Amino acid sequence: MVQSEDSRFGAALGFQRKRPAQGRAPPKPPPGASAQRQPQAEKLIIIGSGCAGLSAAIYAARAGLEPLVIEGSQPGGQLTTTDHVENFPGFPEGISGPELIRNMRRQAEQFGARFRSERIRRLEFSAEEKFPRCGRPDVQKCLQGETESLWAQTVIVAVGATPRKLGIPGEEKFFGGRGVSTCATCDGAFYRHREVVVVGGGDSACEDALFLARFCSRVHLVHRRDRLRASKIMAERVRAHEKISILWNSIPVRLDGDERLASLRIRQGETSKEQTLPCSAVFLAIGQEPNTIPFRDALPLDERGYIRGEGVKISSLEDPPRSFEGIFRAGDCADSSYRQAVTAAAMGCQAALEAERSLVG
Ligand code: NAP
Repeated sequence: MVQSEDSRFGAALGFQRKRPAQGRAPPKPPPGASAQRQPQAEKLIIIGSGCAGLSAAIYAARAGLEPLVIEGSQPGGQLTTTDHVENFPGFPEGISGPELIRNMRRQAEQFGARFRSERIRRLEFSAEEKFPRCGRPDVQKCLQGETESLWAQTVIVAVGATPRKLGIPGEEKFFGGRGVSTCATCDGAFYRHREVVVVGGGDSACEDALFLARFCSRVHLVHRRDRLRASKIMAERVRAHEKISILWNSIPVRLDGDERLASLRIRQGETSKEQTLPCSAVFLAIGQEPNTIPFRDALPLDERGYIRGEGVKISSLEDPPRSFEGIFRAGDCADSSYRQAVTAAAMGCQAALEAERSLVG
């Protein structure tokens, strides 16, 4: 059976989704409690436990900040869905995404990082340091979670991004176990010896196609243009693979089947002719959306939802500029350009160093 997304990511890492809180995170304050009786604010809260969040946690924990890492609904982030990482420095033979993440988490924990399973719904801060909803005038930032409010002196937002969907008829009907997936690594094995489709023309699509070609009978790569966006090495591997065929200028228009997916209808961009491609599964690899919706009131986002800023510092286009003192951005939620594990890790490191500087003054 195909697992739900949450359990799948958790299982991939060997963690459980709903762990009890660890460490000395502040308990939920009782209604009407005074600020004095409430627990201390965290020095640093890191929202997100992907490559960026965990790298920030390693650096911050090592600097003695005892960071609290909020794991969210996808512990470990997108790397947990990557089969084989060949380009993370230090692993000449490559390493699986889940293993890399497990190692990073262990490394952060051994220096004193703490982890909490929670979904942050809102971030609040103000120059006047007033937090009517939190009732904590003495701390800088308030994070409202689904189950509790947390307070912090500094915050790193490293919430990552979510795979994009096509938005065509049939997609929702067959998504999650009935033939449509955004994770070839997670669900590919269910389609052994079957004919499958990968949609997209980037590195993810190529990586998925190569992975699926190991055990599927045929892989059709459906791409909307006449050229792959993927890196040269990946594109060459895909083109050379005898089990992969590329359908150029092809736009998915509909997914059909009864209980399970049976075919993908595609339209030829140039001729507008349509054809039906029989397949047991369609894997979507068409990019991602930053997970920044909970922060859109608090932080400046660009038109695609990425957090605006320079490096790990957040800045808006407003004149005079607003202050985001003590709040930093890292990883895929802030970077629409590179989106690599190593660049996310580097941003996490920088964000932790900046948080430390801002605490020390
Ligand atoms: P991407 O580079 O943004 O590619 C997305 C692909 O999906 C593009 O080919 C795009 O077409 C296509 N697409 C987007 N929306 C579509 C739609 N509505 N219908 C049909 N096709 C659509 O995303 P990615 O492949 O996930 O890669 C993201 C970043 O991660 C990149 O920087 C990549 O290099 C990196 N990455 C690296 C590795 C690795 O090195 N092992 C693996 C995976 C990802 P167009 O080309 O026409 O825009």
